[in-house]
Amino acid sequence: MTYIIITILILITIFLLIRLSIIDKKLKEIVNYTTELLNGNYTHRIIKKEKGNFAILIENLNTLAEKLEARRLDWEEKDILLDILFEGIKEGLVITKKDGEIIKFNNRIKEIFPMTPFQPKRTIQELFINKSFIEFSTSKPELGRIESLELDIPEMGKFFFISRFYVEKNQLIFYLFNDITDSKNLKRIKSEFITNLSHEIRTPLTAIKGYLEAIEEPDINKEDRKKFLKIVRENIERLTNIVSDLLLLSDIERQERKLKTEKIDLNGLAREVILLFRKTAENKGIQLEFSPSKIPEYYGDGFLLQQLLINLMSNAVRFTEKGRVEVSINFENGRFYIMVSDTGIGIPSDEIPRIFERFYTVDKSRSKTQGGTGLGLSIVKHIVQLHQGEIKVESKLREGSKFTVILPAIQSKSLHQ
Ligand code: ADP
Repeated sequence: MTYIIITILILITIFLLIRLSIIDKKLKEIVNYTTELLNGNYTHRIIKKEKGNFAILIENLNTLAEKLEARRLDWEEKDILLDILFEGIKEGLVITKKDGEIIKFNNRIKEIFPMTPFQPKRTIQELFINKSFIEFSTSKPELGRIESLELDIPEMGKFFFISRFYVEKNQLIFYLFNDITDSKNLKRIKSEFITNLSHEIRTPLTAIKGYLEAIEEPDINKEDRKKFLKIVRENIERLTNIVSDLLLLSDIERQERKLKTEKIDLNGLAREVILLFRKTAENKGIQLEFSPSKIPEYYGDGFLLQQLLINLMSNAVRFTEKGRVEVSINFENGRFYIMVSDTGIGIPSDEIPRIFERFYTVDKSRSKTQGGTGLGLSIVKHIVQLHQGEIKVESKLREGSKFTVILPAIQSKSLHQ
């Protein structure tokens, strides 16, 4: 009897041991599975071959893994979208904690501040040393309001419009850096232009008014009257020149790529323009020289190229008292070289970069008395740009100047693109 009981107990124990080892094996499998889940591997699954509670547990774990995988894909997609948004905007974007510590930024911000060693864990105040910015970024952020600051950083030669927005839910501050240097410069150029223009127009108008009043005096003698009338006429001419140069300049600027291109014989064009200056040159005792060379026809805007040559020739003749003015046109390696040189007063080397600016004249009084408007070379520069060319200046004081316009031999079609 005892033997039977012992045998039954042994059998039960063996059965239980086998059962326990099976359970242990299953538990190990489940532990491995949950470890995989913890490590972020949500694609792993246990094939169900169980019944009862184990089957429920495995099914629940499989569903959990499926849900986690779906959420991961969702997050990945959101991350990609966020990255696209981050890098797609033209503004520099920085996200900081409430205390200013940087936690994320886009590549644009690194372009804006190339000298700043940009890293997370630094504070936004370390971007650049600027009192207003430090005050702005350390002030308590206002809830539900976009705060902004316009900043001039002369060391960088830049203007920024900086805005920030506080998100209370996750205690983050979003900073947007908008580089507005170009639009600020444009505004400055516009206002400088208007100031210059007003000045350029007011001067001849004041002269006209003053001399007309003098002419109206009852006791004015005939000789003075003649002299004053001449001055009035000269000033009216000056105003007319300014207005027509301005109209041409704005026409060229607006016209942009809508050039009226045609086949042009540049030699013929130069001959026509030289004729316009023959008399003035003769009166001044200056020689005008032009020896045509064998060049192909050029595609360009005939009217504008004529203006270009007139402006360069007019300067050469005006700023030369003795010697000669020479025009030459050559063709080399697919480029036309139009050269106008003179033996005149020359241009100081530090003034050369400025002579293409509107209304810029080296010697104001001299240019004006000789009918200059200060717009001639701005017009030339625009015409050259419209023809996709470049202009070079060489000059020596009291020895003379040489202006070379280089135009690529392009087909009419490409000038319109
Ligand atoms: P302006 O109507 O005064 O000639 P431009 O724009 O044509 O205006 O030229 C700007 C300035 O550049 C002139 O006022 C002059 O000081 C200088 N300049 C241009 N061409 C010459 C030249 N050939 N020789 C000397 N100075 C020149």
